[in-house]
Amino acid sequence: MIPGARLVLLGRQGAGKGTQCVRLSRHLVIPHISTGDMLRAAVREGTPLGVMAKAVIDAGGLVGDDIMIGLVSERLEQDDARVRGYILDGFPRTVGQAISLDEVAAKRPLDMVVDLVVPRELVLDRLSARRVCRDCGANYQVSGIEPAQWSCENCGGDVVQRDDDTPDAINRRLDLYETQTQPLIDYYGQSGRLVQIDGVGSPDEVFDRLTKGVEQRR
Ligand code: AMP
Repeated sequence: MIPGARLVLLGRQGAGKGTQCVRLSRHLVIPHISTGDMLRAAVREGTPLGVMAKAVIDAGGLVGDDIMIGLVSERLEQDDARVRGYILDGFPRTVGQAISLDEVAAKRPLDMVVDLVVPRELVLDRLSARRVCRDCGANYQVSGIEPAQWSCENCGGDVVQRDDDTPDAINRRLDLYETQTQPLIDYYGQSGRLVQIDGVGSPDEVFDRLTKGVEQRR
């Protein structure tokens, strides 16, 4: 395996992207950069960014491109990302963000963009059953046998339901995905950087497809 890679993982929310990113980042030994996690950390810390982001996130909207681009460019300048690469999760979400990312990463361009393909009906079910670790962002699905005080297998943090996983906010995010994020598939497809992976199946099956797709491409 070649060390280091610069990847973007695209896919509808609820496509299992978060879980697959955590696994892939361990597999490739590269940092997992989730803009959703960065924003949620700012919300917890109560920073001005966090206060603004909370309202947007809870309504299922998108935080402005300029803010997001600033956050990500700063993160990509840190040593771990510069040396080993990264897997971007939740960014870019608009064509404007994708164009800026290409500018920011001009010296060390993206190796590939993976689109995890899962139909909308399926992700609706998954999102309603989704729970996340408050600390490391690991994703879980409710099976009905969890203890009331659910702890993360990775870091021991609290596993909870996200405030924005309500039916209204979920539908709004899925609509936004169609209009804002789907055009990214064309943007990356036209420049030959896109790999589409079938995201339907168990997490292990999908991870197997994902790693094969990534390794083949590298
Ligand atoms: P996620 O954890 O990726 O589903 O992100 C949670 C929420 O954070 C999204 O629904 C948006 O409100 C916001 N967000 C995360 N990443 C971005 C981004 N790249 N652009 C705009 N808003 C974002």
